[in-house]
Amino acid sequence: MALDWERSQKAEEGIGWESTSVLEMLQESERLFSETGHYCGLRELPFKTSEPIRYERIFSRLRGGLVNARETALNISASPIVKEIGELCFALYTPEGDSVALSTGIIVHVHTMSDAIKFMIRNRWEDNPKIRPGDVFGNNDAFIGDVHNADVHTIVPIFYEGELIGWAGGVTHEIDVGAVTPGSMAYGQTGRYEDGMITTCEKIGDNDTLHASYELRAKKAVRAPMYWLLDERTRLTGCLMIRDAVLRVVQEEGIETYKTFIREVIEDGRQSFRTRVQEMLVPGVYEAPSFMDVPFKGEARIPPHAAKDTLMHAPLSLTVGGEGEFTLSLEGANKWGYHSFNCPPSAMQGALWVQLTQTLIPNDKVNDGAYFATQCVLPRGSWANPDNELLSTTLSWLFLIPSFTGMIRSLGRAYQARGYVEEISAGYPGTWNLTMGGGVNHFGVDSAFTSFEHSCQGTGAGFVKDGEGYCAAMWNPEGDMGDIEAWEVLEPLLYLGRSVKPQTPGMGKFRGGAGFESVRMLWKTQSQVIFNVGEGYVFHGAGVFGGYPGNAGYRHNMHNTNMEEIITTKSPYPSYEGDPEDSKMSALVQAEYEEFDHRSLTLAEPYQENDLYLAVQRGGPGLGDPLERDPRAVEDDLNEGFLLPRFAENVYGAVFSQESNGKYKVNAEATVKQRVEIRKKRLERAVPAAEYLAQERDRVLHGDLHQPVKEMYESSCTLSSAWAEKYRTFWNLPSDFEF
Ligand code: MN
Repeated sequence: MALDWERSQKAEEGIGWESTSVLEMLQESERLFSETGHYCGLRELPFKTSEPIRYERIFSRLRGGLVNARETALNISASPIVKEIGELCFALYTPEGDSVALSTGIIVHVHTMSDAIKFMIRNRWEDNPKIRPGDVFGNNDAFIGDVHNADVHTIVPIFYEGELIGWAGGVTHEIDVGAVTPGSMAYGQTGRYEDGMITTCEKIGDNDTLHASYELRAKKAVRAPMYWLLDERTRLTGCLMIRDAVLRVVQEEGIETYKTFIREVIEDGRQSFRTRVQEMLVPGVYEAPSFMDVPFKGEARIPPHAAKDTLMHAPLSLTVGGEGEFTLSLEGANKWGYHSFNCPPSAMQGALWVQLTQTLIPNDKVNDGAYFATQCVLPRGSWANPDNELLSTTLSWLFLIPSFTGMIRSLGRAYQARGYVEEISAGYPGTWNLTMGGGVNHFGVDSAFTSFEHSCQGTGAGFVKDGEGYCAAMWNPEGDMGDIEAWEVLEPLLYLGRSVKPQTPGMGKFRGGAGFESVRMLWKTQSQVIFNVGEGYVFHGAGVFGGYPGNAGYRHNMHNTNMEEIITTKSPYPSYEGDPEDSKMSALVQAEYEEFDHRSLTLAEPYQENDLYLAVQRGGPGLGDPLERDPRAVEDDLNEGFLLPRFAENVYGAVFSQESNGKYKVNAEATVKQRVEIRKKRLERAVPAAEYLAQERDRVLHGDLHQPVKEMYESSCTLSSAWAEKYRTFWNLPSDFEF
């Protein structure tokens, strides 16, 4: 099933240092690391120690070159995903493909492009198709080095006096990838052959120019080719700017200094990561599982072996060692599936780095040194390391996003143990609903769209404050919902409104940040297909220390509506849904049929003009017992539309009244008394832990579990005997127990 293939030609003349081949350089670097545990065998950092200011100056100039390339390239792109959201990133690599520094932006790709460069080196691209000055390589193959094929890499070698001294790489996220259905992360495919345009470390240009044949292929392979082609130029421009910046540094500082610097800065990154772990985290094992539902049972448009209800299992554990060791393990993850949510190791690294750079190592000195300081255990054959390279991976984020919430919850507990309470976050929510689809658009052109307003979700609650509302995505540190007008240019869907969504923040002593909702109306198009994307039957981003998760999903779409009549007669139309139990959409609009349920992950469904589509974004998880929330904060939440009165009463125990001006007033004294009553009721309802465990054990023993849950655990036990043993031990099951 593997697509790997080995090359064994002999290099004619090496492009590496001192006439070696770059493959020999990579092998030597790996030998030194495995023998010494230090990058390139560097136990000390003599250059940094003897000339610290010069060292920092070189770093600043290289990093400045990368940020400059990003800011300039951003303005060449026409794609709103790049322009509005800043969904691009640039990085500089050593000849062996280890990252030296990277720009701001989607830091996801610090290691994915490294994987792609190393693939080219290991497979002797040096001999064929050859690596020469002015060459341009393209890659978006997740099984080589990427998160999914929407993230397209441009990689350019940097030569100095005939020697390869590094690589510049740039990545942007495309609007459409030419898959079976439209959109950048379309799914419903069961294999790679339906994923659309995949470039596998192909030479796509020389003499600093893209091959016309490659551009033609891209133009014919994807919907919205204008954005794809402009983004190719965006990335190439950035890479050439980086190459110029590197060559200026080499000319001014000398090539030997540059070579020394790029080695030391990676070992420096490795050592400082270790030090940071020691400073911030208490050693130990932290466990935080998470799940994601794939409700495809009965789906007639996909083959029977794929049309199933399944659950993704991410039993994440983080082991922190006394010397700053940091091991993330997904031992026990269940098997890959015939869907587009599989995550090759490079995708896992992408999610890991974009999370670590926003939490444990939020500084500019991020490079592959941190990669060399960490270990990832990704069980072969699981969704997190599939042993089948023919799988679809277009929406790997569907599993990456939930699974890494466990790392944030684990870090939170480890910070708390050290006393760094300001650093704690209850986690993050899913970054959806994702509004994606296509068809003949408002310009009469067959096209596709992927709205990136989902890069603004609520953040998790802190230990000392509430989360921030509608501002962040776990995969982009510069989340921005984008102007509605920018999305309306690309999408044949008008915004009837965008507003704060009540009851999205996870409740707690400190609540999560709120999500928002957009009501969209199909406009100037006869037909579109649109996905709904999100979790609906499970929740993730569970809170910490007693906090509640944020909202899980539901969908509400209305078909064959009377919107035309509403507009003609200038009658009120819904600019928001609000409380789904008292829907503004249902109150104002009539529809021949509608979808109004918990099925939040659907294949692309057909829509026509005047249909309504609701996109609800998520709120962050909460922290601490809701009964400890300051009654004044509950009052503010009610008045600002974050909280619905019935939850203020049931969950927060708030006693309140509504004044004549509509404002809520919480009675603090009565609330305190009410909370005493709620605590009593909790005690009455509670059963001793031993009793509860015995009851649940009985269910496990007799297989009295929901079918997808049973199949999930069965798969985990089959793939990992270690995890099966752990499971049996936890539930005190007989040693021959099987589902
Ligand atoms: Mn992407």
